[in-house]
Amino acid sequence: GFKCGIVGLPNVGKSTLFNALLSTAQAEAANYPFCTIEPNVGRVGVPDERLEKLAAIVNSETIIPTQLEFVDIAGLVRGASKGEGLGNKFLSHIREVDAIVYVLRCFEDGNIIHVENSIDPMRDADIVETELTLADLESLEKRLPALQKRAKTEKELAEQVAVMERVLKVVAEGHPARTTEINDASERRHLEMMQLLTSKPVMYVCNVDEDSAATGNALSAKVAEMAKLKNAPCVVISARIEAEISSLPSAEDKADFLSSLGLEETGLAQIIKAGYRLLDLVTYFTAGPKETRAWTIVKGMQGPAAAGVIHTDFEKGFIRAETIAYDDFIAYNGEQGAKEAGKFRLEGKEYVVQDGDVLHFRFKA
Ligand code: GDP
Repeated sequence: GFKCGIVGLPNVGKSTLFNALLSTAQAEAANYPFCTIEPNVGRVGVPDERLEKLAAIVNSETIIPTQLEFVDIAGLVRGASKGEGLGNKFLSHIREVDAIVYVLRCFEDGNIIHVENSIDPMRDADIVETELTLADLESLEKRLPALQKRAKTEKELAEQVAVMERVLKVVAEGHPARTTEINDASERRHLEMMQLLTSKPVMYVCNVDEDSAATGNALSAKVAEMAKLKNAPCVVISARIEAEISSLPSAEDKADFLSSLGLEETGLAQIIKAGYRLLDLVTYFTAGPKETRAWTIVKGMQGPAAAGVIHTDFEKGFIRAETIAYDDFIAYNGEQGAKEAGKFRLEGKEYVVQDGDVLHFRFKA
């Protein structure tokens, strides 16, 4: 599965947020498999309004959303890259995630100390990013000389060396690796292979006081501005409120509480959705009387690989994908109607699966 790491300084609300994510997932667990893999890792369902609509048309018994993993990564403080706090342990956890969620404290509360003794989310973001950049710098400085040496005899390594030199320069100047200029897909692959912390996509979560959950506050506005410049998603939430919402027993109670706060959806739902988009993921559906289910693939994936997400046999024996676009499936009230309207397609191995496709795979057993 795809993983988002929750990162931030101590006492910014990471655990509160993570626990709210988990209890939401657990509350919905009746409908789909849920598991806590480790105490700090949890899978959550990705909210998707389309599932209900599909399920209503095909009369499904159950709805199974696709999932995203969240990892609560504790232990980052100033100096982490030099072994302060949990130091290297923290860094190895963050290496395993696909995207990073920066939780930034934007709430004032005299009872809850801040490790830097004042509330300043921009500075906090900077501390976190600096630690990750320093860790990348150290790792690149170790690896580059060895790679350069090998490249003297292995000429095919020339491009890899060139990319690493360029990334090292960027990182040495204090900028994240993701800002390195990349010219083509091959260079991008080299960058990805380096598994750097600062080449992963990031999003910002502003944890504001309860009263500012709907509107944000001056601090979260600053973060939003910075995020926009960096082309990164930014979500405003109040972790305390999210914890409260997730503890409510029924969907109606949750909806009532949300609207009383002037909110349309939970911050958690926004975070999950933003994480999904950040990872460039795409959803396709399978829909039948037993279940309507969402599946996650990477954008650009073709028929067989997409089928392989369900089962490797589907990929190996792939023949074709019976395909109806989501909008057509809804507009023509299901498969029969879509067929009559000429919206039912047989797609082969080259077909790039599109977001919202309702698929039925044909395969040789
Ligand atoms: P972590 O160290 O980043 O995991 O932070 P925690 O989630 O443990 O939160 C630290 C403290 O801040 C706890 O006492 C939380 O109850 C409190 N806290 C978290 N979010 C909020 C919030 O939105 N408002 C206020 N006032 N306190 C919060």
